[in-house]
Amino acid sequence: MSQENEHVECLIIGSGPAGYTAAIYAARADLKPIMYTGMQAGGQLTQTTDVENFPGYPQGIMGPEMMEDFRKQAERFGTDIRFGYVSSVDFSSAPHKVVVDEIKTITADTVIIATGATAKWLGLPSEQQYNGFGVSACAVCDGFFFKGQDVAIVGAGDTAAEEATYLAKLCNKVHLLVRRDEFRASKAMVARVLATPNIEVHYNTETQEILGNGKNVTAVKVINNKSNITSEIPVEGFFVAIGHKPNTDIFKGQLEMDETGYLLTKPGSTLTNIEGVFACGDVQDMYYRQAVTAAGSGCMAALDAERYLAAKEHPVEA
Ligand SMILES: Cc1cc2nc3c(=O)[nH]c(=O)nc-3n(C[C@H](O)[C@H](O)[C@H](O)COP(=O)(O)OP(=O)(O)OC[C@H]3O[C@@H](n4cnc5c(N)ncnc54)[C@H](O)[C@@H]3O)c2cc1C
Repeated sequence: MSQENEHVECLIIGSGPAGYTAAIYAARADLKPIMYTGMQAGGQLTQTTDVENFPGYPQGIMGPEMMEDFRKQAERFGTDIRFGYVSSVDFSSAPHKVVVDEIKTITADTVIIATGATAKWLGLPSEQQYNGFGVSACAVCDGFFFKGQDVAIVGAGDTAAEEATYLAKLCNKVHLLVRRDEFRASKAMVARVLATPNIEVHYNTETQEILGNGKNVTAVKVINNKSNITSEIPVEGFFVAIGHKPNTDIFKGQLEMDETGYLLTKPGSTLTNIEGVFACGDVQDMYYRQAVTAAGSGCMAALDAERYLAAKEHPVEA
């Protein structure tokens, strides 16, 4: 296979809120960043409709439009934005090697990883049909749209338990659908769920279909996997909380990660275990997973990269 080589000061992998924010800061610091967008240019928010919690948009904004604004701002300061995905990396020695689309090798003094995470879905066609129109994988993002209404949420782990209690504060009633006859969540989280009067837990319950009127969700059809009895629960919102997969397969064996694949960073920074490699956004954050926190850590990554390069150029005598 043919190999072209190129060297850059700062390479950014991923074009969600974290990657674009890193690009704005890196470009303004004259690091001449090159960004590879990956297959989902603009990141997860391109999959959603209204974003109402990102500061600076008092009327809210559509997710894809907001990510266009991010892109234009990053381009305005000279970020070289390229469509392509990083297929492998070699961080064993400096400069770091990054292979794009399996053919092009780039060496980089600093690499900012902003590859995000992907929400896991049940895989039902109706889930796709109503995604953004009543179906969501993020209670904090979309719970507000169901204020005073009835919703269902699927999941049995800590995230599901936490999101169910979050929704219970906003919604009239929360149906928590648990596939087995017990939770996987910690005892404390389960106790909190069971003590919340407007959460009804449905054990041994699997979702068969999300029902709607063509525009919005109206109910969820479930089956009790012990009795095989099916029923319909009327709801306006349907939340999926069965986990996320961080997009880190290409970093396995190169960077430290936790047991679920989230990249580990030094607390209070974006530094990974490899010098000159920084991680920001959802790829290193299993807890907050918001556009604004991703953007904030993107800023941190660019500042960390800039300071790393400055320290290399002008080392301080001990
Ligand atoms: C349906 C939905 C609605 C949401 N609504 C809201 C909301 O209202 N408010 C809010 O604050 N948050 C919301 N979120 C969460 C928010 O989208 C994420 O927290 C945020 O997008 C994370 O940003 P990120 O930059 O870390 O990663 P992402 O947005 O996940 O972007 C990751 C980027 O990395 C790229 N990439 C991945 N692998 C590679 C590779 N190998 N090579 C090159 N590039 C790669 C992808 O193409 C993508 O561009 C929502 C999420 C979803 C799924």
